[in-house]
Amino acid sequence: MDIAIVGAGVVGSSMAFHLARAGASVTVYEATRPGAGASGCSFACINALAKRPRFYFEEHRDARRYLQELLRDLDASHLLHLGGTVRWAAGAGEQAQLEGLAGEVANWGETVQWLSARAFAQVEPDLAIPATADVLLLPDEGWLDLLRFSALLLRAAANAGADVRWPDPVVALEPRGGQIHVTSSMESRAFDCAVLAGGPWMSDLSVLGVRAVPVTVEPGLLITTSPLAVDLRHVVYAGAIHVRSDGSGRLMAGSAAIGIDDAPALMSGLGEIVPICRRLAPESVRIGLRAVPRDGLPIVGHLPDEPRIYVASMHSGANLAAHVTRFAAAEILQQQASGALQHYRPERFAADPGLVAGN
Ligand SMILES: Cc1cc2nc3c(=O)[nH]c(=O)nc-3n(C[C@H](O)[C@H](O)[C@H](O)COP(=O)(O)OP(=O)(O)OC[C@H]3O[C@@H](n4cnc5c(N)ncnc54)[C@H](O)[C@@H]3O)c2cc1C
Repeated sequence: MDIAIVGAGVVGSSMAFHLARAGASVTVYEATRPGAGASGCSFACINALAKRPRFYFEEHRDARRYLQELLRDLDASHLLHLGGTVRWAAGAGEQAQLEGLAGEVANWGETVQWLSARAFAQVEPDLAIPATADVLLLPDEGWLDLLRFSALLLRAAANAGADVRWPDPVVALEPRGGQIHVTSSMESRAFDCAVLAGGPWMSDLSVLGVRAVPVTVEPGLLITTSPLAVDLRHVVYAGAIHVRSDGSGRLMAGSAAIGIDDAPALMSGLGEIVPICRRLAPESVRIGLRAVPRDGLPIVGHLPDEPRIYVASMHSGANLAAHVTRFAAAEILQQQASGALQHYRPERFAADPGLVAGN
């Protein structure tokens, strides 16, 4: 089967990996460079605490196990840092919320621990934790080096025969004669199936003559510090700020803030959590753009009115991409719907007025 993949973020690279290893003839078109989108500008925390409903929480847990297995097979376990995540609440309301989430996932089999601030300070001496805080630790969570992980999968796909083309944006898709014709900046070719893994770009496919995928594009602010004599072992969520090591001696912090102008406030908030950062300026400030499907769940499957186009779009791609796309690749090749993807079908938006027909 001849398959085109549009986009080489973690979703497109994972699709290419699974499809090429299963023997498909794969061509990946990337508009700028692999990892140019959200996958190269992501906090990439591997976490499931707040994922709901239960099947979606379990999807994340299964995905984490699969990531471990896959990275072991690829001899690249060093890209996954499952040192644990920690959280503490700013007030009574937040504390009750944390306890609710933690109690629920503990009932679902996740390991959850509560530590006093004093006990946790022994483990992470560089953090300033309010003395009365109860620290929630999920020891099986952590973070993924997402850009290098995507690159690894893309390289493995190329080694299995995939043709990876960049920079070469796709500019048109046209179903004709039982195939899908893909026109890029450099060529026009017919394929049996085109997989759309373009991240935020999927919110407006009308230029390609197909329906838009109901995703919203959400910005997220990320700063990194200069190299510091600090070794954070955990991913830390404190109030509106999250911070972790970036693997190169720097700390990476993010928040719900969305503008470059918010960077000084994020940096001073970081100084409250990691005092060594007080009075430092960020070394880099970036805004990442992520596609978030309108109901929060992945959108994976053939478009109902154009079965030669297959959509793969998800938030939480650091957690889910490699795991979810193995079912997607199998169903494309076997031409048989996978029960594992039943909650994620594009059909669920069929009556959605946001799904506008293209020209
Ligand atoms: C600030 C931030 C924090 C995040 N934190 C987390 C987290 O903690 N945990 C987690 O799991 N996820 C997190 N995410 C989300 C995660 O990073 C994304 O879900 C994931 O990277 C999406 O991958 P993708 O391949 O779908 O999209 P992208 O990485 O955006 O890739 C899409 C690619 O398609 C290419 N493209 C676009 N148009 C075309 C075209 N016409 N032709 C060819 N190529 C095209 C783009 O150049 C790009 O390379 C975060 C994202 C951001 C931005």
